[in-house]
Amino acid sequence: MEEVSRPGHVHGHMRFSFRYGRLLSIEDAMTDLPMAQPGTLTNLLGFTEPQMEKFIRSQRWPEYRAKQILRWLYQRRIRAISDMTDLPMHDRLLLSRSAAVGRSAQVTVLRSQDGTRKLLLTLGDGMTIEAVLIPDDERLTLCVSTQVGCLLDCGFCLTGRMGLQRNLKLHEVIDQILSAHDVLASDEHITNLVFMGMGEPLANLETLKATVTGLTNKPWGLGWSRRRITVSTAGLASRLTEVAALGVNLAVSLNATTEEQRRELMPAASELASLRSLLAACRRYPLTSHQRLTFEYVLLAGVNDQSADARRLVQLLKSIRCKVNLIPFNEFPGSHFHRPSAQEVLRFQSVLRDAGLDTFIRKSRGRDVFGACGQLGDLSGNRPSLALTPIETRC
Ligand code: SAH
Repeated sequence: MEEVSRPGHVHGHMRFSFRYGRLLSIEDAMTDLPMAQPGTLTNLLGFTEPQMEKFIRSQRWPEYRAKQILRWLYQRRIRAISDMTDLPMHDRLLLSRSAAVGRSAQVTVLRSQDGTRKLLLTLGDGMTIEAVLIPDDERLTLCVSTQVGCLLDCGFCLTGRMGLQRNLKLHEVIDQILSAHDVLASDEHITNLVFMGMGEPLANLETLKATVTGLTNKPWGLGWSRRRITVSTAGLASRLTEVAALGVNLAVSLNATTEEQRRELMPAASELASLRSLLAACRRYPLTSHQRLTFEYVLLAGVNDQSADARRLVQLLKSIRCKVNLIPFNEFPGSHFHRPSAQEVLRFQSVLRDAGLDTFIRKSRGRDVFGACGQLGDLSGNRPSLALTPIETRC
């Protein structure tokens, strides 16, 4: 039998002998696989399918085992390698010494009075991220995060205040989705997924792509249709073609109708692409016959909610097949913007509708658990005295 572990490259505790030969050190085998730090475990949920296949080959394991393990991770949502009961016990033990599933050890669920559930996941390095389950009539939408904090600095968004801590890794995004499935009642199922949580999804593109693969893959993944998935961007125009290639829906957070106002409200995003070039990229976006773009527009009282703003918005979107989601500003401590009255919101909507634009008003859900748009982020220090009810903590 071939000697596959090279002394000197292998940590002593990783040299095992087993049925198929010697288990190659995981670190050794993974020059282009997501690497674990020495002394830490590799997260299996962080592997794409090709990476899992490569890993399986490196172990001299039968090829079918790649999909077998991925199915355990995605479809059966196991949290421990020991739960992969159709793997020989011996292999499970060996694998457990150098790898882990990669699920968060702690998930706290905050339940809003309106039924919205906000999941707080503690990551391996102690940071916390948020995902939100939002019920609405027949729909149950899951909103997931792609970064801890955000690299953009939109003045109306709480996440923007945190700065970018780091990009989320694949296993951390998938973990949000699997954890949300774990908290569902038996008669519930998630109908839609939106990348509208913390962070800018297009700034973490490789992870976004791999997450969409895990969501849509049928043999081992969650088997979703791409139509149920929406990626939202603050306007990274040069990357829109990559979203198009994913076949998912695209939402663009426009929020302003003049270059000057957009620069004021969304300085970093405007730096990356002007309003003009963003809209040009939107016009070029290849839509299939059943698709249209979504434009999101946060309504800030007295700032961008006037009828002149609405009229400019109509002009800007004229030649684009799209709908508009108006999001009345959700307040958070320390923000100097205000939410327009319901009447003002309706007036803004009617200007758009009268011009033939399909326009919807986003209901604000989960505001009492700070789970609404723009409310995800670190409120430490000035958390308001709201009745937050952690209903579940799981290990
Ligand atoms: N960075 C991406 C993904 C986040 S989506 C993006 O900007 O699209 C979050 C959505 O909530 C965006 O449309 C954003 O414009 C909106 N938003 C941010 N802060 C808000 C707030 N305080 N109230 C209402 N909507 C807000």
